[in-house]
Amino acid sequence: MVWRKLVPQPRWLPRAAILYPQRVVVICFAIVMLLMFVIGAREVWKEDERALAERQHSLALRALGVGAVFATERQRLEFLRDSATEHYALLADAAVAAATAAEDPALDRAYAARNDPVWTLSAGPGVAPVIGVGEKELEGLSGFARRDDDLRDDLRVARALSPLLGLLARQDRVHLNVLFISANGLYVVYPEQDRALVPALVRRFDAMPYYRSMLPDRTEGDEPRWISNYTQFGDGQLISTLSIPIHAGSRSGAQSSTTFRGVIAVDVAQTRLQGLLNEGNAPDDTVYLMGRDGAFVSASQGAVASGQRWPAGVPGDWRDVPPTRLFEDRAGALRHGAYTLVYQQAANGNWVLFEAISPRQRFDAMLARMSPVLLAVWLLLPLLLWVTLFVVTHLFDHYLALGEKLQELAEYDPLTGLANRRHFQLLFEQETERRLRHRHPLALMMVDIDFFKRVNDKWGHASGDRVLAGMATLMREQLRTIDVPARLGGEEFAVLLPGATLADAVLAAERLRVAIEGFAVTPAPDAAAAARAERDGRIHFTISIGVVEAGPRDGTTLDVLLANADRRLYAAKASGRNRTVSTDDAMATGA
Ligand code: GH3
Ligand code: MG
Ligand code: MG
Repeated sequence: MVWRKLVPQPRWLPRAAILYPQRVVVICFAIVMLLMFVIGAREVWKEDERALAERQHSLALRALGVGAVFATERQRLEFLRDSATEHYALLADAAVAAATAAEDPALDRAYAARNDPVWTLSAGPGVAPVIGVGEKELEGLSGFARRDDDLRDDLRVARALSPLLGLLARQDRVHLNVLFISANGLYVVYPEQDRALVPALVRRFDAMPYYRSMLPDRTEGDEPRWISNYTQFGDGQLISTLSIPIHAGSRSGAQSSTTFRGVIAVDVAQTRLQGLLNEGNAPDDTVYLMGRDGAFVSASQGAVASGQRWPAGVPGDWRDVPPTRLFEDRAGALRHGAYTLVYQQAANGNWVLFEAISPRQRFDAMLARMSPVLLAVWLLLPLLLWVTLFVVTHLFDHYLALGEKLQELAEYDPLTGLANRRHFQLLFEQETERRLRHRHPLALMMVDIDFFKRVNDKWGHASGDRVLAGMATLMREQLRTIDVPARLGGEEFAVLLPGATLADAVLAAERLRVAIEGFAVTPAPDAAAAARAERDGRIHFTISIGVVEAGPRDGTTLDVLLANADRRLYAAKASGRNRTVSTDDAMATGA
């Protein structure tokens, strides 16, 4: 596509861009699409991370709520425990004991009845009484032992604790049961229980983890502890219990050491924790609350079963993941299989809140976070790009074809399809360059139709055109492919014969001249009828030719060669036409 070289190129534009504009456009578009894909994918990834972070944050808020419950309960239990131990310490003081021992008939009565199966000590009006069982009822219960020496102190402390426990049981929204259990076989419980159940209740206390785990051979220190869950006596509700042990000096033991005296415990129902877990929760997400041992405490949806342990019921396959993994860090996200588990510790690391997020939930969350406008644009852009690419490449095709057509029009004569004068000049220059390099000769002939004016006059202009076209066809047939025929104007033609000597060119010219002699052109339909009637009704004509040669080292110009050839052509005309002249001494060859 020579014409593209003719148009001045912008300096900054690479040549390849001029030669292959479609490819450049396609590459640019491909890069844009790739960038869009990368940016989009990055956005998706970031939104996914943000959605996870949001869940983490929401879990952290809920953990605060759960933690607040834990902290409050812990403080209350510690306060009650401290009250009890201080009371024991006071009672151990001989002076105080002497002052209080004197008049306490109710206490004396209770002490006297201590071996009845069930006995009570009133703690005041509107307050739960202290309830005790007889020594026989304690038989076989390893967590209880009757110690008569300590019984009066235990009764006093229990009686003093009862209004405080009552206060706790009445005012709050979290507890189910509040209780003090003395290892000496007596207790205070809110709400009050049926008297008939008393011996059974004591046996139950003895079996309950919140009591048993506080026994001297089990517990480490005086820390309050959560027992993850148990089913409440009676109504089957799942309950978590916070309990704290009480240790005090015993009257029968050594002065310096302390003895386990009992437990203060509060119950929290799973359903009450559920409220805290549900705050700000999407309805399809389940947040679980689990203890360090892997036992479930509560869930935001439905109820966790008694004894349900990690990972039962958690969506996804978590069998290989131990529950302790969720306690390694304060908060985090575990990816396992398709599911992602987001967790957050609560209550000083006693509990962990977590939820397992399915790929579908992650996708939905990510989609919900994406701006719909952005999403639409992102989906539409490739389509727009594709349409633009389609239009642009077709425009390019169109203009390339147009350019080629223009080039043809600019370089070739439309009537004969031969090179025009300007193009002939260009081809001559290229050929001259080559010729001088390779030291080849070059011949040029000028051809002119004889009496062409008469052809026009006799047959009409349209038929004259046919003659010109027929002449061009014949020239192409008779000449070598490397020869370059051209129409210089009117009925004047020229031929470049690369590599040909004058003698070669004369042979070629004669061959052409003889061929034209034997050639005839069918006239155009508008040709005069009179002319048609003559001879065979076809147009016969002859040509005159002037031939020149440029030697292998002769860098002469086209104008000089043409002028020389024209002079010889003129000589051919002058000496009778239908002949070839190749010298300047007017000796013509031909008919
Ligand atoms: P000779 O060359 O033998 O001396 O005689 P001639 O009649 O051919 O000479 P001249 O150069 O005077 O005539 C050229 C004629 O060619 C004049 C013009 O009418 C005709 N002619 C030029 N261009 C065209 C063309 O494109 N089509 C047709 N039909 N005729 C053309
Ligand atoms: Mg002529
Ligand atoms: Mg002429």
